[in-house]
Amino acid sequence: MDDLVTIERDGHVATMTMRRPGARNAQDTALIDALDAAFAECGADDGVHVVILAGAGPVFSAGHDLKELAVGDGSEELLQRRSTPEGRLRHEQEMYVDRCLAIAEFPKPTIARVQGAAIAAGLMLACMCDLIVAADDAVFQNPVLRMTGAGVELLVEPWELGARKAKEFLFTGDPIDATEAWRLGMVNRVFPADRLEDETMALAQRIAAMPPVTVALVKRSVNKTFELMGKRDALDYHFMVHQFAHDTATAQEALARRREKGSVRDIVAERDRAF
Ligand code: ZN
Repeated sequence: MDDLVTIERDGHVATMTMRRPGARNAQDTALIDALDAAFAECGADDGVHVVILAGAGPVFSAGHDLKELAVGDGSEELLQRRSTPEGRLRHEQEMYVDRCLAIAEFPKPTIARVQGAAIAAGLMLACMCDLIVAADDAVFQNPVLRMTGAGVELLVEPWELGARKAKEFLFTGDPIDATEAWRLGMVNRVFPADRLEDETMALAQRIAAMPPVTVALVKRSVNKTFELMGKRDALDYHFMVHQFAHDTATAQEALARRREKGSVRDIVAERDRAF
C-alpha cells in the first residue's frame, strides 16, 4: 500500500510509521492491511532486531476508523458485511483480533511510541507491543462504553491496569495521562515530547544490541506466563461479550443515530459531550 505505513531502518532497528495523520491515524481496512504487510516484512528480515511502532502527526492513533464503520467510506461492502452478527464477528475476528494477536506474538521485540493520544483501538494496538513509551503530553483513553460498546475487541485493560483501575477507566471513559499510565505500569517510560523520538531510538538500540535469539525466547516466555494466567481465554471470552453488546437494543439504536449523523466530528462530539 502506498506509504500508509513506512519502514525506516537505523542499524538493526526498524521504525514502522502509520501515516494517516489527517485522520489521527484512525485504523481503516487499508491501514490495518498495510501494518500487517509491514510486520511481515520486518519479521522476514533478519537484519531487523527491534521494531518501533509509531504514528505520524500529533496523535499515535485515535482508534478504528469510525467513518468507515459507522457511515461507510465510499464502498458499501464493509457495512454490508457487518450487517449481520455472524458477518461482523468474522470481520472483527479476522481484521482486529487475529491481526492484533499476531503483533503481540511477533517474534521480535516491539516498542509502541505514543504521542498525543492512544484511544480505544489505538490503545489496543499500542498494548500489543512489548514496551510502550510515551510523550509527556500523551493520553490514553477507551471511551467506547460512552458509545454503548463493551470495550474494544480485545480487553487489554485488566492486564494493563489491574481490575479496579480497569473498571474505573472503562466505566467512566475518562483519559489518563502519560504519568498516570506510567505509575500504573502500562507505560514503561515517559519522555518530554521533543525528545520522544531520540529516547525511543536509544532504548531500541540497546535492545537491538542484545542477542536476538535470546530476546525472542524471553519474549515468548513472558507472553506464555500471561497465557498460563488465562489471558488468551479471557480475551476470547471478552470478544464474545463484545459481540453480544453490539447487538443489544441500546447499541443498535446508537448505531442508527450515528449513521444519521453521517460525520465523525458529530459522532465524537456526542460521545464526549454528556460525560
Ligand atoms: Zn466491535
